[in-house]
Amino acid sequence: MSPKVKLKYFSVLAGIFLFFCFTGVSAKIHSEPRQKTLPGSVKWLVQIHGNTTLLYQLADESIVPGIVDYVEKSRNIIESFFGKSFPETFVVHIFPNRVSLSAFWRKAWKLPDFEAACWMVGSGSSTGLTLLSPRVWRKEACEHDPDDRQHIQRLIAHEMVHIFHAQVNPLHNLDDLEPIGWFVEGLAVYVSGQLEGAYLADPREAVLSGKAPTKLENAWSGKYRYGVSGTLVKFIDKTYGRDVIKKLLVQTTEPGILKFLGTTEKKFLRNWREFVLNDSK
Ligand SMILES: [Zn+2]
Repeated sequence: MSPKVKLKYFSVLAGIFLFFCFTGVSAKIHSEPRQKTLPGSVKWLVQIHGNTTLLYQLADESIVPGIVDYVEKSRNIIESFFGKSFPETFVVHIFPNRVSLSAFWRKAWKLPDFEAACWMVGSGSSTGLTLLSPRVWRKEACEHDPDDRQHIQRLIAHEMVHIFHAQVNPLHNLDDLEPIGWFVEGLAVYVSGQLEGAYLADPREAVLSGKAPTKLENAWSGKYRYGVSGTLVKFIDKTYGRDVIKKLLVQTTEPGILKFLGTTEKKFLRNWREFVLNDSK
């Protein structure tokens, strides 16, 4: 789940800078978990697993192996979908509570007044993903079941699709892809398997009730946004083929996508509505 607010990108250097600014911790990277604490600061632990660096606090030590499994499974799903490895390494940053995650987002996104909705538990950018520890979801989040392993798996895969997309796209910045938010989010929903989950409002219902978008730019909005955007990308995959999806990763505008597909917005949406009504999953 990405926040409704702008998807933000920060460079590797900026990300590391922000992390250390925020935590006030001078931690060295080790392959084994290590602790280093400065007076008055919080303790952050670091683990490196292959191309992934994990940052977490002691309270979440017991869930780290599970998170590593989710990340590796998601990596396999994404790399086999796109037939390509993640171009760069990335960081998985597990926050022990809502206060610390919100403070990080405010600083990273330069939105000092940002208030996260309770369903916002993670985000993804080219440098990595942030995650509110599932350990505190019952108290500090809504709409997410911390005991639903498949749900957590798909959520982490969703954010990792954002990482992959941002690393491959020439802008390296999902924030700049806001006008094609339906493609950014639809890709993450579809590749992560979230379309199969019970959490999404049914896009078929949107079509049948006349609530389907008439403009692509409106697809990533409202109650049906996950199902609508996810099936828009599924429609492309099933109609135009996987190679087309891979090539669309570098597109940065809606006209660019439509031109590449050789269609118009109206025709594209009409064919998608038909696809949704005939799609038996
Ligand atoms: Zn997202």
